[in-house]
Amino acid sequence: MGLKSKDRRDIYYRRAKELGFRARSAFKLLQIDDEYKLLQGCSRAVDLCAAPGSWSQVLSRRLWEDGEDKTKETRIVAVDLQEMAPIPGVVQLQGDITSRRTAEDIIGHFEGKLCDIVVSDGAPDVSGLADIDEYLQAQLLLAALNIATFVLRPGGAFVAKMFRGRDVTLLYAQLRQFFPLVTIAKPKSSRNSSMEAFVVCQNYTPPQGYTPTMITPMLAADYTKSSSGAAGAGEGDAAMTNAAPAPAPASTSAKDDKRNDLLGVNKVVVPFVACGDLSGFDSDQSYALSKAAAENYLAPTQLPINPSYKEAIERKRTAGAGSTKSIQ
Ligand code: SAM
Repeated sequence: MGLKSKDRRDIYYRRAKELGFRARSAFKLLQIDDEYKLLQGCSRAVDLCAAPGSWSQVLSRRLWEDGEDKTKETRIVAVDLQEMAPIPGVVQLQGDITSRRTAEDIIGHFEGKLCDIVVSDGAPDVSGLADIDEYLQAQLLLAALNIATFVLRPGGAFVAKMFRGRDVTLLYAQLRQFFPLVTIAKPKSSRNSSMEAFVVCQNYTPPQGYTPTMITPMLAADYTKSSSGAAGAGEGDAAMTNAAPAPAPASTSAKDDKRNDLLGVNKVVVPFVACGDLSGFDSDQSYALSKAAAENYLAPTQLPINPSYKEAIERKRTAGAGSTKSIQ
């Protein structure tokens, strides 16, 4: 088979295949870790929005020694909406990181032990509508941070994809409520033309009195509804908090009750502002291939198990074989 155009265009795409990584994004975490040494001495990690699994592969390679029995304990839990092919030493959960259930499942797998690092490379399906895309990205970052507050040990680290934009300083200030050391990293493998960058947050130190909670107005499907209709991140998410609900002022309307559950430090730190511009496309850069590389096609390490485009291809095939009717 000949080279795919991506092999020619993108050196990280090709290097990922050479090193057995499922995606070029592996290099983003590798380069962040090379800079910050976050995985040194790390025993337990959570990989949010993990599919197809190249970050989990990095974690597996750095948290387990060669030849160790990778079934003896849980060190890495990976979560994604999509199914992932197995990775040795990684427990996989299929779920939504905005749901209370997912946070509970992760905690359950660590048998109550807290972890050293939470990473999230989450990205929503880009709609092309900048406002919506920015909003969704902010939701994911918030959801990842929320889960981190449940599972991270004091002193732990949090790395998450964000989009650089004019509100980046606000995001920085908000993350500083939980982490005294916050930097924004742009690994070389992340394209210059992309707004993508990564917040690297170290030394987890929640504000005094902070209680992890899944109740957050930004996660509500429609937080303008009354509190009985606005169910936070998902049905029953309120049960995730141990905090005694603060009494709402007598004059507050029902719709405000939900928002006013977040009082004190919680109220200060939970809201995020959508920032960044998702409408820019990545630009591929070209690198000269060695003669050997140019002649040898490498198959992808792991083909997608159940890609979202699978059904469309099937329908197209069926439509093509049976009739001339176009796909709706
Ligand atoms: N870090 C991954 C790797 O190295 O293979 C790539 C992650 S990919 C860029 C973004 C992932 O975010 C997708 O697999 C998508 O399914 C996942 N995702 C988006 N929203 C999610 C959600 N609410 N819960 C869980 N996963 C989500």
